[in-house]
Amino acid sequence: MGSSLVHGKYVVCKVIDDDTSQVVEDGAVFQRDGEIVEIGKYTDLKSRHDPDEVIGGPDFVVIPGMVNAHHHMGLTPFQLGSLDMPLEPGIFAEWSSRQVDPYLDTLWCALQMIESGITTVMHNQAMVRTPTDADFYESNARIVDAYEDSGMRVAFSLYNRDRHYFTSQNDDTFLGSIPSALADRTRKSMRARPITMDDHLSASEALIANKASDRTRIFISPHNVHWCSDEYLMAIKDFATRHRTGLHIHLQETVYQRMYGDQHWGKTPLAHLNELGFLGPELSCAHGVWLTDSDIDILAETGTTICHNPSSNLRLNSGVAPVNRLLQRGVTVAIGIDEAGINDDNDILQEMRLVQKIHREPGVGVSSPSSHRVLDMATRNGARVTFFGDETGTLEPGKRADMVLLRLDRISEPYLDPNTDIVDALVYRGRGSDVDTVIVDGEALLRGGVHTKIDRAAVADQIRESLSGPRKPAEVAGAELNRDLKPYIERWFASQPLPKGPPHYRYNARS
Ligand SMILES: [Zn+2]
Repeated sequence: MGSSLVHGKYVVCKVIDDDTSQVVEDGAVFQRDGEIVEIGKYTDLKSRHDPDEVIGGPDFVVIPGMVNAHHHMGLTPFQLGSLDMPLEPGIFAEWSSRQVDPYLDTLWCALQMIESGITTVMHNQAMVRTPTDADFYESNARIVDAYEDSGMRVAFSLYNRDRHYFTSQNDDTFLGSIPSALADRTRKSMRARPITMDDHLSASEALIANKASDRTRIFISPHNVHWCSDEYLMAIKDFATRHRTGLHIHLQETVYQRMYGDQHWGKTPLAHLNELGFLGPELSCAHGVWLTDSDIDILAETGTTICHNPSSNLRLNSGVAPVNRLLQRGVTVAIGIDEAGINDDNDILQEMRLVQKIHREPGVGVSSPSSHRVLDMATRNGARVTFFGDETGTLEPGKRADMVLLRLDRISEPYLDPNTDIVDALVYRGRGSDVDTVIVDGEALLRGGVHTKIDRAAVADQIRESLSGPRKPAEVAGAELNRDLKPYIERWFASQPLPKGPPHYRYNARS
């Protein structure tokens, strides 16, 4: 550990409100042993401190490290052979995917995220069991190892479910409705990888016991409300309370998930969770596309937060989350990429731009997220939902030194009106490719666009090599099962009449 003075034409310390951020022009951050000591004018700090090194200069902007508040795997489903499709059949496309080594896959993803200025991620993981692993702990611990090797912060949760694997029906009812030979193959495949609630809780417990790095938080996650029995949900809630840790869940991502609540509980899934006593500031919900007005009231009253994933919602036919309504009610909204960024490349700056543009409802005087609000979502709110809010998310003395330096040359070439707000410039024009240096705890993970801890080319080579051979028998069998099952799943969902009701946003009208 040592000290450094991080210099920028602008240092964006934190967002104040919709129109302003605290910015120091020709500013610098002095950090020692990973802690921010002082922020001020560069010349003043340079004269009073004796840092080991000066990083940056007048061609850079310095911002807090950004947070990807909802994410899963590294190589994207598209890279693994799946086109975009609605979530319900899309989940089964994973059965036809190549099996990528979880450590390498996570390392690759971490490299990409660091390159776009992400210093913290909420990684939500389907429980992985490799054929040679004796238990769930080892295979999932390797994913956390990859983050620890990358230097990123991570809030890591294992997710699981105990019902409704295929449609919103009981699984036996669905399997009874398809040809019996296909049902037998499906049952056999499910039995080959049974994952129980005890597996889930004990693997999470072991991760908490063994992964106590300052940069790692272990959360726990039910996959979704309708995919878990009440008993399972409450066991998970109890686990989080006992371990004083965070909860993360997919919530009302698609119209079918909302319909399930109406049909089975006579209320939305969120209202059902509220009745169970599951909600609170320790719970972050991914998506929330199909929230009702009363759901938004419940979120505001309980302090429950939303992780918004607009690219994923477009790519998976889910819709547009009512973020303007959430912000109006004061709900905390963070931003996630969900392995489905609009450019398929895990670039948080492009995701932020989409957050800003997609909520611009028609009409003069209709409010939508400002650049400052979007930056706040991607920094302070992301830090809060990952339980790093006391240490990161803003640049302030006493906080950990997590920050990103972006080059201003491309953003402002050949001319940018000198009155342009620097936060507007970043959200309107910034790209991951403008990121030059990424610092976590005062340690540079990326310098001049080059990784300092991991050999990027070597990781790419290892992944390429591992996937260069023919598909393994299990991969072929998975692909064939997905191919045969998918039409029945699609047919069931397509037969469900969608609810009608006034939309949160009116984008256009046909009459
Ligand atoms: Zn997700």
